[in-house]
Amino acid sequence: MTVELICVGTELLLGNIVNTNAAYMSEKCALLGLSMYYQSVVGDNAVRLKALLETAKSRSDIIILCGGLGPTQDDLTKETAAASMGLSLVEDQRAREELVRHLQRLRRPITENNWKQALVPEGSIVLYNANGTAPGLIIEGEKNTLILLPGPPNELIPMFENQVYPYLHSRQPEVIYSKMLKLCGIGESMAETEILDLIEKQENPTIATYAKTGEVHLRLTARAATEEAALALIKPLEEELQRRFGTKIYTDREDVTLEEAVASLLKEHHLTVTTAESCTGGLLAGRLVNVPGISEQFKEGYITYSNEAKEKLLSVSHETLAAHGAVSEETALEMAKGCQKAAGADIGIGITGIAGPDGGTPEKPVGLVYIGCCCKEHSYVKRFCFTGNRSKVRESSVANALTLLREAVLNEVAP
Ligand code: ATP
Ligand code: MG
Repeated sequence: MTVELICVGTELLLGNIVNTNAAYMSEKCALLGLSMYYQSVVGDNAVRLKALLETAKSRSDIIILCGGLGPTQDDLTKETAAASMGLSLVEDQRAREELVRHLQRLRRPITENNWKQALVPEGSIVLYNANGTAPGLIIEGEKNTLILLPGPPNELIPMFENQVYPYLHSRQPEVIYSKMLKLCGIGESMAETEILDLIEKQENPTIATYAKTGEVHLRLTARAATEEAALALIKPLEEELQRRFGTKIYTDREDVTLEEAVASLLKEHHLTVTTAESCTGGLLAGRLVNVPGISEQFKEGYITYSNEAKEKLLSVSHETLAAHGAVSEETALEMAKGCQKAAGADIGIGITGIAGPDGGTPEKPVGLVYIGCCCKEHSYVKRFCFTGNRSKVRESSVANALTLLREAVLNEVAP
């Protein structure tokens, strides 16, 4: 079954309001397994709305219209939709009573134009509105179904949740269930290459890849009669992906972030960490501190932006800085070792790089970043050449530092 969305409102066309209703309803329709191929926005204009509605009716089974159900002259969605379905408007007794009650509760006088909100297309299903005066409507025609919803999100969302969602679900009793696998330490094109065969033959479930800063997310989506059946379809694919990507998958939960995964790994193995940051200026520490309860694992961090600070706080040697420069493998390692020692932590992470936009040279371009990690007796260092602006370079550095930290811990605790 196909569904199409028409949002009505000149304010939307002018950019005065953001079309959050469209985002909300698209997501819900996708979860219901309805295919949505078209969405449009049209102003408060009967002629253009009518034309758009005819087009929508020719190509979609269900058309959801939102906005323009209010009492004023420019609210014309209901009148246009009824006319398009060849229906006249009749008064709905309960809608009239609720309208009166709602306005009394708000101590607002009833004006003449309010009464038009109690009018409904004959034979339609009325969706009474607990949060406003305009009822929503479902008009079932021979070929198409039109669903009309009020524009204000505080009215539309509960109405959709409580009345429209169950209605649509009964029309298409399949559910869409999806599961997210989150990977780090691998780029999007490499991840996709590893699973090209699976992507090519995908049907149900499907795999979608999303590139995030320093991460790749894979969404596995299945369509089935129940959530359990959908999960059963996803399971073999998920196991295959686990087999191929192994520890690169840091979580199989949508709501878990990379820093949370790293923090629980540290917690599980009773390891403490400290940070020494140059170009990221505390961003890595900030991401670690996003995690509630990190204080057992993270007690202090250093922002050592200048060479003097690196020498003073981390005991990076003057010779290293002079011979290799602040942005070098050697400095990153000495920063990691230095902070590990200064904080008395199990693990030290050092980040040094050129975030730009200035300061790049042919040998050391903007985006060059070294990340060092000392985990107990073992040392690791990695060189990266990130692209993007200053903030992107810094965010990429942090994501890769978390990844290196995770890899170091996994190596340390491997049997
Ligand atoms: P009302 O009875 O308030 O006139 P209505 O059903 O006629 O409701 P509109 O007049 O189109 O709806 O919009 C009313 C308000 O609802 C807008 O000013 C805006 O704040 C919000 N709104 C409308 N459409 C959207 C949308 N697509 N996304 C987010 N908010 C919206
Ligand atoms: Mg209105």
